[in-house]
Amino acid sequence: MSQTGNVATSAGVGTDRARSAPAPAVPASGTTPPVAGTPSGGSGEPFTVLDPCTGRPLTRYATATAADVDAAVHRARAAFGSWSRTTPAERSTLLHALAAELERRAGELATAESAQTGKPHKLSTGFDVPGTVDNTAFFAGAARVLEGSAAGEYSPDHTSLVRREPVGVVGSVAPWNYPLQMAAWKILPAVAAGNTVVLKPAEITPLTAVLLAESAAAAGIPDGVVQVVAGTGAEAGAALVAHPGVDMVSFTGSTAVGRRVMAECAARSARVHLELGGKAPFVVFPDADLEAAVHGAVAGSLINTGQDCTAATRAYVHRDLLNRFVSGVADLFAGIVLGAPDDPATDLGPLSSARHRDKVAAMVARAEADGATVLAPGRLPGGDLGGGFWHRPTLVVGAAQRSEIVRQEVFGPVLAVLPFDTDDEALELANDTAYGLAASAWTGSVTRALRASAELRAGTVWINDHIPIFSEMPHGGFAASGFGKDMSVYSLQEYTQIKHVAMDRTGIGRKSWHRTVFGLPD
Ligand code: NAD
Repeated sequence: MSQTGNVATSAGVGTDRARSAPAPAVPASGTTPPVAGTPSGGSGEPFTVLDPCTGRPLTRYATATAADVDAAVHRARAAFGSWSRTTPAERSTLLHALAAELERRAGELATAESAQTGKPHKLSTGFDVPGTVDNTAFFAGAARVLEGSAAGEYSPDHTSLVRREPVGVVGSVAPWNYPLQMAAWKILPAVAAGNTVVLKPAEITPLTAVLLAESAAAAGIPDGVVQVVAGTGAEAGAALVAHPGVDMVSFTGSTAVGRRVMAECAARSARVHLELGGKAPFVVFPDADLEAAVHGAVAGSLINTGQDCTAATRAYVHRDLLNRFVSGVADLFAGIVLGAPDDPATDLGPLSSARHRDKVAAMVARAEADGATVLAPGRLPGGDLGGGFWHRPTLVVGAAQRSEIVRQEVFGPVLAVLPFDTDDEALELANDTAYGLAASAWTGSVTRALRASAELRAGTVWINDHIPIFSEMPHGGFAASGFGKDMSVYSLQEYTQIKHVAMDRTGIGRKSWHRTVFGLPD
């Protein structure tokens, strides 16, 4: 199966225009093999992908233009007819082959994922890649259980049946925090349900989306069913979202951009699925296992350097436990090692870009200026890594509930800690947010756990844990965190539409209901 669209094969990094444009030096093609997953086929401005650990160029590609997006959408539409008519078993077989191909390329995928994000290999090999393989295997199975409800007679004269059909061409836009998993969460359920997909990854992290599309082609998924167009949000993303040939837009990213995407879709009545920002509360009740809560807070706030939409960001801790909680978390933060992905001692990588690092640092500085206490006990890497986009694990204690650091998404390794006195107050503070993606409650009481799981307003609530996700279970937000589900059979349903078929079973030409329109009453 040949590769299509903007999906990279192994060729160079751009057009003549790209090569002539000023950009930092990248490994010269001809002397060094191009970085695996470097996009090709775009005809727009060059874009340099940086290594977030050093700040140095990793690779460069020509971005997709609106015309490139248009061509990809036309290919997706051309592929839709035959792909939507494949049987569930045929799609399942191809997705199983994709899972096997991803497993075969697991090392390459993990290396590329860590190279473009700076995340430790233990995270990409232990979470990103196996999670994606498992997700692919899940949707290979789930493709075969999609069904409408059984036929039935809801009037004396008709038999009704419900068909569940694919929506058509799906335009997907993904963020940079988990580039491989986010691409997989968008592509897999859509394709399993019989849609074709054009995906735009974040411009700073296109490599593993390209490798995923290459793997889909290698697994035998036909041309045009899975395409990746790598480019900027302003050009390629906007063109994809606005394209009249895109039947549904599936967007994961910030709430601000998500709202713009929704407005664009509203203007042309296109279906939209939004997975947006989060500001997850982490509630520690007075009967919690404190050691478990401290370890959970460190892992839950620092995962992926805090660039996780479900990360623990606001710890509400019962006043009796507050000091011990803060010192326990600060002690563990002090031992966290920031470093290069391939260093086995590394716990944490950098933030994804200099701009994002500066944004996180500015939010922490404003919290401190507003009177909060900031504890950032770790050490920044130096030497070769001195130019990277590092930010130390940071605790913010004593910020006001209404302050920016407690209300706005930071998306970095920053945990704000606030006290509470009563259960009612804890749940009220936790729910005092525009977001609603995830939350956790820490308690030894079944009654408190049940109350918290019912009253916390979020798409996922963990009890005595924070972060784990499973392919079988839905992920998605309430309120400003968006709507629609990723993973699970619920996401498969997102990418289908329901059709009612009503069949006359009388064979009578003059139906009795016609009298309501013409002729005399019976
Ligand atoms: P972002 O909104 O800046 O960008 C997301 C994507 O949108 C990128 O591919 C970008 O190029 C594209 N884009 C930007 N402007 C666009 C436009 N006008 N039209 C179309 N596309 C456009 O988000 P980000 O900074 O890449 O990612 C971080 C955000 O993603 C955080 O808010 C995080 O919470 C959220 N996120 C949410 C989930 C979830 O499941 N809810 C998962 C991961 C990340």
